[in-house]
Amino acid sequence: LLTIDGVWKNFRDHSVLRGIDLEVRPHEVVSLIGASGSGKSTLLRCVNLLETVDDGVILLDGQDITDPRVDVDDVRKRLGIVFQAFNLFPHMTVLDNITLAPRRVHGVTRARAEERAHDLLTRFGLAAKARAYPDQLSGGQQQRVAIIRALATEPMLMLLDEVTSALDPALVVEVLEIIRELKQSGMTMILTTHEMGFCRDISDTVCFLDGGVVLEQGPPEKIFNDPEHTRTRDFLRAVL
Ligand code: ATP
Ligand code: MG
Repeated sequence: LLTIDGVWKNFRDHSVLRGIDLEVRPHEVVSLIGASGSGKSTLLRCVNLLETVDDGVILLDGQDITDPRVDVDDVRKRLGIVFQAFNLFPHMTVLDNITLAPRRVHGVTRARAEERAHDLLTRFGLAAKARAYPDQLSGGQQQRVAIIRALATEPMLMLLDEVTSALDPALVVEVLEIIRELKQSGMTMILTTHEMGFCRDISDTVCFLDGGVVLEQGPPEKIFNDPEHTRTRDFLRAVL
């Protein structure tokens, strides 16, 4: 579904990504772990075309999305992205937050967009909040709405960048539950997280980034129980 092949990203003279190779198959959950500054967010931003890559290619469903002639909006239409900060529009209700992109970007009718929004809110236990404003919700509820908003456009791939990092520990669980549900429903996802227990549970592949390279990747049992590299071991020892 997604192939990242030899991707480099430089900020001035600093190479933040140094030849990243990564393959994401349909229905797979790939987690990016690694120290702060190792390039996890930058990699997700490259996939969403928020950053341009300096070398290498990224193929989404076979299409080279790093080709300068590519229609950025068309690529983003196929992706859902959720960040650490909830980024809901504060002056809009939950329902309007969720239906905005389907209506404005995808040309879905209001009736159809609201029907789908209600289905998603019901599925994730937020049906009663459709008319609420973001500041009337808990942080966990806001982040669940942000995930629903990303799902509303029926993306083929979800990118989740530390979606629980800004939450009180008590609210983390409800957001992780949504992600688990999404995996069960077959959604393909790339996520970064500091929740190592969750990462181990949910990932098909765990990818350890170190200084802009994928130092090792593999199934969670392998990475967590029997890492090849000392640096992976040191990182895990520090965070577990
Ligand atoms: P964290 O776990 O703290 O979120 P990360 O692995 O997501 O870290 P990135 O945010 O990808 O790390 O940052 C990787 C490196 O790129 C860092 O050294 C950061 O300072 C640098 N960087 C990121 N964005 C920019 C930018 N727009 N301009 C210059 N340097 C940047
Ligand atoms: Mg980051």
